[in-house]
Amino acid sequence: MRIDVLGVGFDALDRDAALDRAQAWLDGGTPRYIVTPNAEIAYAALRDAALRDALNGADMVLPDGIGIVKASRQLGRPLRERVPGAEFGPGLAARMAAQGKRLYLLGAKPGVAEEAADRLRREHPGLVVCGARDGYFQDDADVLADIARAKPDVIFVCLGAPKQELWMRRNLDSVGPALMLGLGGTLDMLAGRVKRAPAVFRKLGLEWLYRLAHPSRWRRAAALPRFVMAVRRQRRHEKKGR
Ligand code: UDP
Repeated sequence: MRIDVLGVGFDALDRDAALDRAQAWLDGGTPRYIVTPNAEIAYAALRDAALRDALNGADMVLPDGIGIVKASRQLGRPLRERVPGAEFGPGLAARMAAQGKRLYLLGAKPGVAEEAADRLRREHPGLVVCGARDGYFQDDADVLADIARAKPDVIFVCLGAPKQELWMRRNLDSVGPALMLGLGGTLDMLAGRVKRAPAVFRKLGLEWLYRLAHPSRWRRAAALPRFVMAVRRQRRHEKKGR
């Protein structure tokens, strides 16, 4: 069952159930992709049909942020919990290690994916990181050829939103039987280039507040009040329709 927040259908799964489902797909031999939108992206999708299609066309749609979970409660169809991409990706890597599965890392500035690969290899012996490449390429063909050589089971696509969602949608039939995960800034995090908020902020659902300390985030955060208003409009609209 998917839960509609501003026209994006989110899967009502907790973290473990989401990981179980993704793990079951590893042996499926079918290309698939998973997205982890936050409030800002769901709001952007209201006005961007291509982004909305890329999100709703995913095999799994997970709420990256607390804003989506709160909105789902206000709409009377509560999602269980947030499933941040930055936790989901490494969680799947841990499960892949036990099965000797192959992971390809795509995205972030030159050098970052390699550093993230080193960290994942250290933390998860058994995991095969079969390729790593930065996210500032001009044409897809090169990247797709590299992926074809590497034969990954899973690809972390970390090009930022909405680029990564559109990339996965566009290339779904060109990556072999891989499972792709759109994970935003996760490679930067794994490489230690950005730190996640301290645990106390995360527990209180205030990671966004911590991030505001970074001025480049201000423009993005400006979308949050608009997201809240749009959710109120959706609620009013649904009440009328009942
Ligand atoms: N990025 C990329 N190619 C691009 C644009 C961005 O690889 O053309 C990377 C960028 O270096 C960063 C990530 O995408 O590693 C986006 O991270 P951010 O934290 O901004 O994204 P979010 O998780 O908020 O979507």
